[in-house]
Amino acid sequence: MQPEALFGLALGITPPWEVTSVVFTKEANRIDLTIDFQRGATFPCPVCGASSPVHDTTEKEWRHLNFFQYEAYLHARVPRVKCPNNDCGVKLIQVPWARANSGFTLLFEALVMTLARDLPVNVMARLLTVTDNRLWRVLDAYVAKARDNEDHSAVSRIGMDETSAKKGHNYVTLFYDLDQRKLLFGTPGKDHETVTEFAADLIKHGGDPEQITDVAIDMSKAFIKGAKGKFPHAVLTFDHFHVIQLMTKTLSKIRAEESRLFPEILNKSRYLFLKNPENLTSEEEQRLNAIIAGQNLKSTEAYLHKLNLQNVYFAENRQEAEALLTQWHDQASASRVPLIRKMAATVKAHWSGILGHFDSNLNSGFLEGVNSLIQAAKARARGYRNTKNLITMAYLIAGKLKFDALFDQKVHTVQPT
Ligand SMILES: [Zn+2]
Repeated sequence: MQPEALFGLALGITPPWEVTSVVFTKEANRIDLTIDFQRGATFPCPVCGASSPVHDTTEKEWRHLNFFQYEAYLHARVPRVKCPNNDCGVKLIQVPWARANSGFTLLFEALVMTLARDLPVNVMARLLTVTDNRLWRVLDAYVAKARDNEDHSAVSRIGMDETSAKKGHNYVTLFYDLDQRKLLFGTPGKDHETVTEFAADLIKHGGDPEQITDVAIDMSKAFIKGAKGKFPHAVLTFDHFHVIQLMTKTLSKIRAEESRLFPEILNKSRYLFLKNPENLTSEEEQRLNAIIAGQNLKSTEAYLHKLNLQNVYFAENRQEAEALLTQWHDQASASRVPLIRKMAATVKAHWSGILGHFDSNLNSGFLEGVNSLIQAAKARARGYRNTKNLITMAYLIAGKLKFDALFDQKVHTVQPT
């Protein structure tokens, strides 16, 4: 057996295709395999499937998995066939080892999709010696294909959240299925139109906006307007995560402003105030306690309001929660700090939706958990923080998309036997 035939076996190349040459260039660190079809071969017409003769060919190249440290490339002249049914015209056939218009073999793309679960794209690009942009195109294509197969007909309880690709810029809104605990849809923007787009996408995947019973959202006017308009039968709740998040933002602002006045006290204190007390190291705890005890700071006041608000969520039932929330509101609305009074007013304005958390058994812990997944997605998309890449990465990390099915159909044709 010729070495070419061995490579053909290893790549799973089957007739009429065969490996006709293998060129190994040590200096260039690469191995080039040429695949060709047997003389006189016919191919199924891509339109109707009728066996068709070759009309002409185009040279193409695909990057394949490395053989050890050598980059491997497949080359082939890909036929356009002339179907006996004149209506079909002359069409480029699809080769069994790659997707149409991809410069990678399916096996290489399978590796990309596998690595993408654990590696940032820029690291993967370095490892595979491919540009980031080409990897993003592969990721985008598979995410789109996997999403086409998604069935959202059982979705009834959703959560929505916003995040930004760059700090304070390029917002995206993400919609989750709270029962399946997965990302359903992501779209640029953070206005009520994002809800319209989600509703359309839900319908496209077999879902029904009328069937939505619960929506967990933050207290933004745009989301409330969008959700009320699109999900007429849904109860809106302002979940634990979003309420605390808003309080944390308030605290963060107050601390940042005050640290300009008292840098010697508050410099580098951000994490002391933002971490939950149980997560502080004993050293951090000592420093925080010293700050709290030493000065009559607005930051300290905001911090205590945050702890008290968190405490509301330890209530056993709605009644107890309402009593704690009332107490919190009375204190916060009497604050000397305008931002704390503003937070108190926001809570008051969303009172029943906040307490709704204690009636519904929506698992808002999920939103908190998924938020840290999305932070991880941002890290993976590092250097390419546009909204499109962020959304693609969010689908990869939190979408529970089924990629195996996409590869099962085809990849066997290039897997080593
Ligand atoms: Zn045809």
